[in-house]
Amino acid sequence: MEPVRGYRSWEWGAFDGTLFLRSHFTGDYWPHSSPMESKCACKKEHSCGIYAWSSGEKLNDYLPMAIIAGLWVRGEVDMWGEVHFHEHGYRAQFAKPSAFYVNSQQTERTKRVIGVIALQYDVPVVQEDS
Ligand SMILES: [Zn+2]
Repeated sequence: MEPVRGYRSWEWGAFDGTLFLRSHFTGDYWPHSSPMESKCACKKEHSCGIYAWSSGEKLNDYLPMAIIAGLWVRGEVDMWGEVHFHEHGYRAQFAKPSAFYVNSQQTERTKRVIGVIALQYDVPVVQEDS
């Protein structure tokens, strides 16, 4: 089955000398070279798993403008395994980042940090505007 494309944001943190994405609510670090994996089988009646919005517009509607211009990382994820579809997005058993966004409202420093994180996760950086 083809992975589902989701859209989400992360915080980030330094751990063991490198930068990692972190989930907002759980604080979990996302591994660099293997998928993020739910600790559970993610059945339909559960709430476990990795969440993402179904479009970039929904992600941006959810996030305040200050966040979009700020230091959170936003981007795309491939999601697979047990995947559940909701009104505004998806919940999946496995997820891996596939692109990060930068925009002209961000400072050069923020863009550099996101660039380093993109190298760690081996994904491209997409400029949203120019
Ligand atoms: Zn579960």
